[in-house]
Amino acid sequence: MDICVVGTGYVGLVTGTCFAEKGNKVCCVDIDEERVAKLKGGVCPIYEPGLGELIEKNVRAGRLSFSTDIKDGLDGTQLCFIAVGTPPADDGRADLAQVLAAVDGIASALTHSCRIVVKSTVPVGTGTLLCRRIKNHLRERGMEKIDLEVLSNPEFLKEGMAIEDCLHPDRVVIGAASEEARAVMRELYLPFADESRIIFMDPASAEITKYAANTMLAARISFMNEIAQLCDRVGADVLSVKRGMASDRRIGEFFLDAGCGYGGSCFPKDVQALCCIGEAQGLDMTMASAVGKVNRKQKQQLHMMMRVRFGAEMEGLTAAIMGLSFKPRTDDMREAPSRTLIHGLLNCGASVRAYDPIAMAEAKKLLPSVVKYAPDVETLLSGADCAAIVTEWQEFKDADWQRLGALMKRKIVFDGRNICDPCRMRSLGFEYYCIGRNMTP
Ligand code: NAD
Repeated sequence: MDICVVGTGYVGLVTGTCFAEKGNKVCCVDIDEERVAKLKGGVCPIYEPGLGELIEKNVRAGRLSFSTDIKDGLDGTQLCFIAVGTPPADDGRADLAQVLAAVDGIASALTHSCRIVVKSTVPVGTGTLLCRRIKNHLRERGMEKIDLEVLSNPEFLKEGMAIEDCLHPDRVVIGAASEEARAVMRELYLPFADESRIIFMDPASAEITKYAANTMLAARISFMNEIAQLCDRVGADVLSVKRGMASDRRIGEFFLDAGCGYGGSCFPKDVQALCCIGEAQGLDMTMASAVGKVNRKQKQQLHMMMRVRFGAEMEGLTAAIMGLSFKPRTDDMREAPSRTLIHGLLNCGASVRAYDPIAMAEAKKLLPSVVKYAPDVETLLSGADCAAIVTEWQEFKDADWQRLGALMKRKIVFDGRNICDPCRMRSLGFEYYCIGRNMTP
């Protein structure tokens, strides 16, 4: 098929490339000229394992191209995907400015019938709103004969695993009103997922599915973080509790890790946006708002633990931050717990050094300039008063703490991801704090 993808961020670039990988002809369009220039020059603008190689392969095969001009993308296309950002507005609702600008661009350039597929995470009813908006544009251009349908196809990929998730999705959710549109989408997705994994529904249900799925995953994390708080009060071990719970097949093992809170471009904003969608309908959204509230508190947890430990010593303390991205295998710093911790530490007068295997370039754009960056873990920890593990990178899981401890001024570790063994750390002479495994009631 001929496909246009509008937006070359984490979602647009990965899905566009994967569509090309399956033999489709794909043009990815973005208004960011620098980004498109990089892509045309063979440089992948984001860190996502395997993506650069897959882009290169498909560009070479003539199936994947990039442009800043929507006309290039729409030329002969049957399907136009919208994968632009929907960041949170000040009141927590999804800001649709990028989506509206994208459809206005499409509507002003469209010369033939086409299906518009919304991949961006958008509130219920957005598909209907976009369809009306495009039709108005077309009427103004005297092109009302153009046949148009707006579908919903929310994306569930995980950054860091995006290629695998996209090529082998657990399921594909498609909100489409007409049988013709369903047939086209089935044809597109059959090379990715067998029939049983392609789930058709009405567009409003598809739009809610995305928010409900993310909020459910976030709820599991927030629930375990609450249980972790309780474990620390009563001298229990949250990892044992998790093992005991997860062995129940109805519960399962995923998304039950206690830690210093979830971040990223999706969970915080989608939980908040779901609350807004419900509240606009007169609902309290008690569960969803509690999920967000627990997480906001949890992101303060490492800072709180440090304040309890160091008190007035916080001023002048040298804290070493291990990990900046919101999770491993990505450079995405959006809503990362490291940002909350670093701001808290700086406000208390501590000096902050940081190291991340991938996200330091991104971090430098976002964090206060007083933060110092270390080229490796050894330099980071040399002479530090304490270390805080914020992102569970494999490199940190493999760390030789005996050697690293010898470099530190004081052997104090705050493990926000529970990646170290508390007994071993204490046997190595560390003062070791973690989440829900402190075992001292
Ligand atoms: P992003 O911010 O990384 O990328 C958005 C891209 O769209 C940018 O490159 C931007 O320049 C471009 N853009 C903005 N306006 C445009 C326009 N008018 N025309 C062309 N390009 C335009 O966003 P993302 O992380 O890829 O997320 C995209 C959507 O997918 C969001 O709604 C998000 O909630 C959802 N989503 C994200 C993920 C994820 O892991 N990042 C997963 C599932 C769903």
